[in-house]
Amino acid sequence: MQIEVRNLKKDFGQFAAVQNVSFDIEPGKLIGLLGPSGGGKTTILRMLAGLEKPTSGEILFHGKNVNHLPPQERGIGFVFQNYALFKHMNVFDNIAFGLTVQKKTKREIQERVYEMIELIGLKGLAERYPHQLSGGQRQRVAFARALAPSPELLLLDEPFAAIDAKVRKELRTWLREMISRVGVTSIFVTHDQEEAVEVADEIMIINSGRLEQKGTPWQVYKEPQTPFVASFLGESNILPDTASITGFEAATFRLRDKSRAKTANILIRPESIEVGREHEISNPAAASIGLVKSVQFRGTLWQVEVEVGHHRLLAHRTLEKETLKPGDEVAVLIHSLHLFHEDESLFLE
Ligand code: ATP
Repeated sequence: MQIEVRNLKKDFGQFAAVQNVSFDIEPGKLIGLLGPSGGGKTTILRMLAGLEKPTSGEILFHGKNVNHLPPQERGIGFVFQNYALFKHMNVFDNIAFGLTVQKKTKREIQERVYEMIELIGLKGLAERYPHQLSGGQRQRVAFARALAPSPELLLLDEPFAAIDAKVRKELRTWLREMISRVGVTSIFVTHDQEEAVEVADEIMIINSGRLEQKGTPWQVYKEPQTPFVASFLGESNILPDTASITGFEAATFRLRDKSRAKTANILIRPESIEVGREHEISNPAAASIGLVKSVQFRGTLWQVEVEVGHHRLLAHRTLEKETLKPGDEVAVLIHSLHLFHEDESLFLE
């Protein structure tokens, strides 16, 4: 489904929960709405679903305004965290529910339900009741129930929130595969950045009712447009003003235009910082001197906290290199950074 959202707003009394949000979604895409709690993700999803009326703005499906269309006429399916299965119905009847509402024939319902059961890999469990299923299986059934009536848009609100960590990981890979196989346009809400990055084709970062950025996970990570996005997705060193970065400036980069840098925020990703003994550093002449404050093993790398001038920076160091320890004097080289200046974001290498 082709979706366009124009200047969408939602006020709850005096409180602006969603403020002037606009975006387009191409058919077949899997979109992650990501952001901190209370940011407005669920409210956006509910407006798309028709469960909440926008204060102003437009929602268009296939170019047609659906603002006044009730949920059941929008061609959407839901999987909500708390949208539990009907407890008194078995797997078959749960999946058949939407088809019965659509008044399909008995034969059509049977064919479709078994097709869905096969798709979700729960063959042989049609007669089971929800309490006889694991959390992961229940969520698969919820997914099949939403998909059975062939919606054009699937909306998922924190679909994995109630599931334990290991099953959750399996389920998200599974969901991604299912959605791409079925080809249905899907939007899911999450506050878990790892989940959004792993599952979504595109991420929309929502904060304080605003859309901060939309793009592929890699784009959003690599080219954050606001300091908020930079700090929310991945680990970052954010330095507030340029006066105090002069120590790095001479050694590691030249700001092209110093006047614009005056009110800038500077973001440096830990993987853009080389830290080590002088002989290990690619360009020791350009490096600054730093003092190691802490070293933490992070599974695939060392995370080193290093003090340079008045700043503490997190840097990454590969495992095969000699271990550093607190108190070591090291060379520090910054390879790239982002400069945020008012509405502008610049990437400098
Ligand atoms: P979470 O991840 O916690 O679900 P969210 O990003 O989905 O957060 P929303 O649930 O959309 O955020 O809520 C956005 C803001 O709007 C919150 O401050 C919330 O308290 C407020 N809000 C949501 N629904 C209502 C309502 N029916 N009446 C009043 N305020 C509401």
